Amino acid sequence: MLVTLSVYLQHEANTLLVEQQSRSNVDLTQSFSNSLWTEFRPYVKFSENLGPEELKKRSEVHRFSAVMKELMSNLHVVKVKVINMKGNTVFSTDKTQVGTDRSTYPGFLAAKQGEVISAITFRDSFFAIEGEIFNRYIVNSYIPVRNSKSNEIEAVFEVYSDVSNLFSSMEESQTNTILATFVFMSVLYVFLYFIVRHADKVLARQELLRKTQEEKIRFQAYHDPLTGLWNRQGLDDRLQEAINRSSRHGKKGALLFVDLDRFKLVNDSLGHEAGDQLLRVAANRIAKCLRETDMAFRLSGDEFLLILEDLERPEMSAHVATRIIESMKTPIMLMGHEVLINLSIGITTFPSAGKDTKTLLKEADASMYQAKEKGHNQFEYFTRETKLAAMGRLSYENELQKALHNGEYELYYQSKVEPETSQVVSVEALIRWNHPVKGLVPPNDFIPLLEETGLINSVGTWVVDTACKQVKSWHDKGYAPMRVSVNISARQFMSGDLVSVVDNALKASGLEAKYLELELTESMFIGNKDDAIGTMLKLKTLGVALSIDDFGSGYSSLSSLKHFPIDYLKIDRSFVKNLNENHKDMALTSAIAVMAYSLGIGVIAEGVENQEQLDFFRSQGCKEVQGFLFSKPVSASDFEQLQLAPKRKQA
Ligand code: C2E
Ligand code: MG
Ligand code: MG
Repeated sequence: MLVTLSVYLQHEANTLLVEQQSRSNVDLTQSFSNSLWTEFRPYVKFSENLGPEELKKRSEVHRFSAVMKELMSNLHVVKVKVINMKGNTVFSTDKTQVGTDRSTYPGFLAAKQGEVISAITFRDSFFAIEGEIFNRYIVNSYIPVRNSKSNEIEAVFEVYSDVSNLFSSMEESQTNTILATFVFMSVLYVFLYFIVRHADKVLARQELLRKTQEEKIRFQAYHDPLTGLWNRQGLDDRLQEAINRSSRHGKKGALLFVDLDRFKLVNDSLGHEAGDQLLRVAANRIAKCLRETDMAFRLSGDEFLLILEDLERPEMSAHVATRIIESMKTPIMLMGHEVLINLSIGITTFPSAGKDTKTLLKEADASMYQAKEKGHNQFEYFTRETKLAAMGRLSYENELQKALHNGEYELYYQSKVEPETSQVVSVEALIRWNHPVKGLVPPNDFIPLLEETGLINSVGTWVVDTACKQVKSWHDKGYAPMRVSVNISARQFMSGDLVSVVDNALKASGLEAKYLELELTESMFIGNKDDAIGTMLKLKTLGVALSIDDFGSGYSSLSSLKHFPIDYLKIDRSFVKNLNENHKDMALTSAIAVMAYSLGIGVIAEGVENQEQLDFFRSQGCKEVQGFLFSKPVSASDFEQLQLAPKRKQA
């Protein structure tokens, strides 16, 4: 580019120089002709008849030369020739050239036509007026000389000017221009280089940002934001890949379905924040029990799914399940409460002929339910029995929905007696399900499902209504008035309409409120204590009695009792069971009794099966005892006949 620029500048400079010098030569010629032409015109005209040799001898040439020299002094004109219209050189400051023929020179021919023609040439040596000069730039111009009156061209002047100085100063400025351009371009280049480098960096940063965002989006698409585990998206693909890998390598894999027990209770009672915290801790502990190649998914709520690969033997999955269960043994603190995470795990293995991902998921799910039925913190492998149980559970749920409408629920009644008099002072209503095929189903087999499906609210309402009506009818029949206690589930307690349900039941049955007792559980108080107390106070305003069932099996401490408007405490059966052998249980039961009395709360012992237990509670000043020693739960008609008729019917 610089070379092109240099050539261009050179060309432009030459043109300019020639134009300038040409003008100056014209002016010079004009001044020559002004001072000389009148004198020399006749000679020039005459010279047209002379030959070259004759011309050289003419005295006018010497005269012309002397005048010319004078005119040329201090100018950079180095040679002047006068050519007559025939093309002969009639005068030259270089005398050797007088007589030479220029008639065919393009410059002469153009000047003869009235044009001024100039050109620049470099001469190694040149015969100037002052003698020989070397290495010069010479501008050579052919200039017509006219008759001042007729304007007719009478001769041609050939003027040579030495423009070397001008040329070198132009060259110098040209070099400076090129140098300046070079410097400018270098600066521009450096500037552009930094701009490009900066742009490169910006682009690289943007690319990194884009990639990070892409990864983040991909992560978010496939991961659960709460626990950081994989989400359900893409589960099928990953499971299928794991099955394929295991088939190829001849190894076994396992699918573990993990479900937290009683998570809903924590969520409902302690709030979603506590529920989230519990899920995070559980997920973290589960992840710690896995190898890097294993995958953990959170399916929804409290359900997790684990894919284990590369197992030497399928039973190895049991080690993982045990490790997970063990890892949950440390309680966590949620809103100031110590909570234990319990879970159930269902396991199935792969690859297994004809089993696709859907089947495996169903199997793991069904096994998990089997594990749940065994109690907390259990795991269960998928077996034929599991399959049958899973199918059974599904139809069970459908049947539970219809049971209320079909009138399949029934209340059984179990008496509570005064230890001193053995008189029935109260009765607990316990639900049973008269299944058309299975017969009488105990509550522990369907209450958890009722809670899970939300059916507990409508069934619970039916229980309160039925119990109130039943006991009122016994009152009306003249039996000695007794309380009836009804079990209230945590979900029912928190539903918000328990107070109106109870109020309606009392109104509909006409039972006096003081004859109704509601059995609550400790789990209802671990959440928002103020809400719980609020509901309890409203219930107390209705006039009903409140008790805490299974006391000692849950989370609450003895000291927390003072906050609740409670009338009775039912000591959990587990303490009663081992009373005779376990002195700690005895000491604990005594402590509970002493504490309850000091707070004005009556103590009821449940699960009393033998005389020693009865004696013990009698010695502890227990208000009421309940257990198989007196009666098992029986139907209303049996209760009326066996418990009420002979003893309590008033005359
Ligand atoms: P719970 O309220 O603690 O009821 C006492 C349970 O202990 C009853 O079992 C009763 O049959 C049993 N029991 C009483 N005395 C003895 C004894 O001396 N030995 C032994 N081994 N057991 C004894 P059931 O009827 O199977 O009820 C189990 C649980 O189901 C109840 O425990 C209660 O939590 C729940 N439940 C029952 N009916 C209802 C209901 O209508 N609504 C709600 N939400 N839960 C209910
Ligand atoms: Mg009870
Ligand atoms: Mg109980």
